[in-house]
Amino acid sequence: MQYVTVGSTGVKVSRLCFGTLQIGSFMAQLPPIQAAELLMFAFEKGINTFDTARPFRSRDLLANAFRNNPEVIVIDKSPARTYEEMERDVAESLVELDREEADIFLLYDVRSREDFAMRQGAWDYLKEAKEMGLVKAIGLSTLSIEVAQLAAELPEADFVQVVFNIEGAGLLDGGRDEMEQAMSRLKEAGKTVCAIKPLAGGMLSRDKWKEALEFVFRHPLVDCVCVGMTTHEEVEANCALADKEELSADLSQHLTQMPRKLVILDWCNGCEACIPICPTQALYMHSGFAKVIQDRCDWCGKCGPVCPEQAIFLIPVPPTEKVEEAEVE
Ligand code: SF4
Ligand code: SF4
Repeated sequence: MQYVTVGSTGVKVSRLCFGTLQIGSFMAQLPPIQAAELLMFAFEKGINTFDTARPFRSRDLLANAFRNNPEVIVIDKSPARTYEEMERDVAESLVELDREEADIFLLYDVRSREDFAMRQGAWDYLKEAKEMGLVKAIGLSTLSIEVAQLAAELPEADFVQVVFNIEGAGLLDGGRDEMEQAMSRLKEAGKTVCAIKPLAGGMLSRDKWKEALEFVFRHPLVDCVCVGMTTHEEVEANCALADKEELSADLSQHLTQMPRKLVILDWCNGCEACIPICPTQALYMHSGFAKVIQDRCDWCGKCGPVCPEQAIFLIPVPPTEKVEEAEVE
């Protein structure tokens, strides 16, 4: 596994970072004991960097799996809108992760320049937290090209997470080429660039998973890549791809044939944009939220990119689990 140092902060992140959205209690795709075991397996394979955020509810898993392990790096994020909210969230993160100093802390999911301006107080607190020694590296995460451009102009930003995948899927305001231009500016400004959603929330996982991961791991503007994982085979395959190694035929076949399920998160806003896109009529509305008939879903991946809330995920089914209809509250 290769590692990259974040600016002058001394924080060293692995090229493959483990995204914990799927295993945190928000999505809860694995029982906590299995999730902790998978995290430790990933660490043994060389992954030292684990990605969380307040909404994922996975900080407790990380604390339990890696208590007193100074080699583990945590990327944490907060949707805070004000100085006070960010102050509270950094403090909560330190307590929940049982740490005295955060490694990397980001302003989560900044949607536009206007959104950033409205959350300036939260950014101001992050800058202060870095000066006070509570956080080593700061930055933001975004699915917007204009925000990636803005991040290049922020002198204090060390680490920037951008939605980046082979299809340019999930970007709010442009395509892959425009994001590459923004990433180029980030690199020129000395920022560490972390690609998130390399499989577009699993939407590329049926036909293109290997090509999509090879694309990001070989991309010259990408320093590290966050991938959500729920099985040992995914960890093994993704570590090999991060190291630019060939996968064994068995592992490759296993991942291609792995059963999957569609999950719609409860941040669905009921816009109905996904409903007519589905070629198999697997999606329908119920009480103002999208729901899925799993039997009808053939994992084509067409619905995810049209969702303005990034609420749709296609994920592997853990070996012991029966596929059931996704719950939407
Ligand atoms: S992945 Fe394809 S088949 Fe499944 S719900 Fe989405 S659009 Fe329909
Ligand atoms: S497109 Fe997304 S937000 Fe809109 S109904 Fe479908 S799942 Fe919900």
